[in-house]
Amino acid sequence: MKPYDYLIVGAGLYGACFAHQAALKGKKCLVVDRRNHSGGNLYCRQVDGINVHQYGAHIFHTSNREVWAYVNSLVEFNRYTNSPIADYKGKFYNLPFNMNTFYQLWGVRTPREAMAKIEEQRAEMAGREPRNLEEQAISLVGRDIYEKLIKGYTEKQWGRACSELPAFIIKRLPVRLTFDNNYFNDTYQGIPIGGYNVMIDKMLAQADVRLEVDYLACKDELDALADTVVFTGMIDEYFGCRFGKLEYRTLRFETERLEEPNFQGNAVVNYTERTVPYTRIIEHKHFEFGTQPHTVVTREYPDEWKTGAEPYYPINDLRNDQLYKQYKALAGTEKNVIFGGRLAQYKYFDMHHIIGQVLQMKHEI
Ligand code: UDP
Repeated sequence: MKPYDYLIVGAGLYGACFAHQAALKGKKCLVVDRRNHSGGNLYCRQVDGINVHQYGAHIFHTSNREVWAYVNSLVEFNRYTNSPIADYKGKFYNLPFNMNTFYQLWGVRTPREAMAKIEEQRAEMAGREPRNLEEQAISLVGRDIYEKLIKGYTEKQWGRACSELPAFIIKRLPVRLTFDNNYFNDTYQGIPIGGYNVMIDKMLAQADVRLEVDYLACKDELDALADTVVFTGMIDEYFGCRFGKLEYRTLRFETERLEEPNFQGNAVVNYTERTVPYTRIIEHKHFEFGTQPHTVVTREYPDEWKTGAEPYYPINDLRNDQLYKQYKALAGTEKNVIFGGRLAQYKYFDMHHIIGQVLQMKHEI
């Protein structure tokens, strides 16, 4: 008899949610993580009453009722709605692309006028299938918006020319002919009251959690403790990178506390010019309608990932996707190991996707 049913490697959202579902079935879980805290990239650090999203801003949104009911059974959500603003050469534009943006760009006042302008702008792509992100953006919203609000931001974010990036990255940006600045189309949205740590702690409440444990460095010893392993780390590392390394984009964050109550009046301001080195400034208190006399802001600088840095965005180009397929095939032959989450599945998931996946698995647990 092994002491645990599941050894869960990684205390991020996938691992924590899995541990919670397993506990509901009466299973015993040991969760290990190499960081000194749980929560993965959802983790928030408290700075004088403000929850600072230490690994980048997380905004929960979903249209899946089961997922929404589940997260609300753990923690209450506030009414935060993401409405980022884009700064291009000192002028503000609303995001996502909607009637406010079209008015700011072209002075058009009605959906009919906006549509006519967009049609004129995207005429250069007429009848052609977009082959890359640049062409996809132009066929979606035309050259003006592409040049001002997409090109610089995307090239900073991905470190590659838009003409070399896959089109799907931009497909998820909504285009609306209403004056609606809600960044997401989903039915439900918000931030957990008290921050994400409250939700993660609830998920992990019944599990044994060991932090600062490097699973791959003591694999045999840990594997011996449980019947099944749930691995949420980097899939190439699990297999000793035998086929080569998967690539990522990483982020560097510069965070500062300011002695003023309100720095930018919005949680998210994107800087879409190529020459501004960061992609956005996050003012954390606005996610929770904070009223503190001080504030905390973070500038986000995308960078090429190297071993040892945090892997944030998988780069799903041809080379990496083929490499991932090789690892995935190998993972399929690994007995009693479940590979789950962004790093093990080499795919950028939203939080609701991860929870949806784990809830789907609950019958197998
Ligand atoms: N994007 C852009 N301009 C913006 C914001 C986003 O061109 O002001 C593009 C960019 O290519 C980015 C993608 O949209 O990689 C997805 O952005 P989103 O903010 O949804 O991604 P996040 O990094 O927050 O997950």
